Amino acid sequence: MWSRLREVFARELVVLVDPTNAHHARRRKQLTAAVGTVFALGMAAAMGVAPRSAYDDPQAPRVLQPMRLPDLREQLDKLTDSDATYVRQERMLRGDTIATLLKRLGVDDPDAQAFIARNPTARGLFGLEPGQAVQAEVDERNLLVSLQANLGGDVANSRLLVIERAGGDDLNPQYRARVQTVGNETRYEMASGAIGSGGFFNAMDAANVPDEIVEQMISIFSGVIDFQHDIARGDRFRIVYEAGFRDGSLVRNGRVMAVELINHNELYQALWYAPEGSKSGAYYTFDGRSMQRPFLRTPVEFTRISSGFGGRDHPLHHYWAQHKGVDFAAPVGTKVFASGDGEVDFVGQQNGYGNLVILKHANGYSTYYAHLSGFAGVQRGQHVRQGQVIAFVGQTGWATGPHLHYEFRHNDVPQNPLTTALMESPALSGPARQQFLSYTSSMLSRINALRTYNVLTASN
Ligand SMILES: [Zn+2]
Repeated sequence: MWSRLREVFARELVVLVDPTNAHHARRRKQLTAAVGTVFALGMAAAMGVAPRSAYDDPQAPRVLQPMRLPDLREQLDKLTDSDATYVRQERMLRGDTIATLLKRLGVDDPDAQAFIARNPTARGLFGLEPGQAVQAEVDERNLLVSLQANLGGDVANSRLLVIERAGGDDLNPQYRARVQTVGNETRYEMASGAIGSGGFFNAMDAANVPDEIVEQMISIFSGVIDFQHDIARGDRFRIVYEAGFRDGSLVRNGRVMAVELINHNELYQALWYAPEGSKSGAYYTFDGRSMQRPFLRTPVEFTRISSGFGGRDHPLHHYWAQHKGVDFAAPVGTKVFASGDGEVDFVGQQNGYGNLVILKHANGYSTYYAHLSGFAGVQRGQHVRQGQVIAFVGQTGWATGPHLHYEFRHNDVPQNPLTTALMESPALSGPARQQFLSYTSSMLSRINALRTYNVLTASN
């Protein structure tokens, strides 16, 4: 009986996997159902038959055991799997057209291709950047069943483009396209390293810290560290940032959650914290002081190019008897930021200063930005916020090379902005501090884990 059944199955199985049979998809479903039924019946039969044959033979073991069935169920499962569809993933290449992309995905379906070319939603595919993944599911005739691509999103969510066959028949297949929001998986990425002879940005590259995270890090410390003058070889950093992943691929890097910088043996730490019930957060020191300062240390955009620009080997010469400010060497056109909230007091030219902006701030402070190549549309009397772009680096006036000359004055007396007291914010206290500590403890443990890891790897 079983050999007969097996024979039948074997014959049917051949039909199941016959790729030349155009109707075999439907047939396969019927067969699978039929075989399943027979299989269930066979199982019952086996339970009934086996014991009797065992008793018939006195040499047979007396232990009753159900007859071991051939591996058909497993085979059928496998067949049903391969029957389903084939999924393939490819990455967009520069110069891809819908035709070349579909071809690489193994889709041979002119109707689907025509749909994608004319449907406004499906045409979202054209907006993908090279390197982005596209997944296609095809049937055994290489006709499109569905296609998915992540159109991007934020840390929390992705916008998923889904194109799928929605009925119709071979002669007139129907497709539809939609964009749906799907949640990402949030991961906390960690990186650490030391500043070597290659400088700050090289160290960040070596530790695989993405550019947007580096920018955040500079901005977080912009009130306490002047990256152009202060960062030195041997400085160390540790950083934890959030990143949104979908299907194992990075969708977007998010916010720096915690960062430590050891600069000239001094420890600077910052932690992102949004008080409960508050929508806006800020960076705090690990002991609960806000990182925000009334003035930036570096009122000029610190970039890859400006970091190595000029440099300390090429001191800038000045014609003032006494140099009253700090120079930031940077290429012409580099953004100049308002170092603090204030009001524009002067925009124009003054002899040695060349193009100049003067800002007036609270409590008798004022700041000067000189040698500018141009102004960012600011006018006298206008209010500006800390970090706002007010002008661009140049070499107008008495300047031998492009740089920003920055002065920081109190009651019109120039101060050294690099040594002026940092005007720390008070630490959180009471219940707010308790809340801060409980909220941040997990992030602290991550940073600490990273520290242990560093020690371990350093000792190897
Ligand atoms: Zn200067």
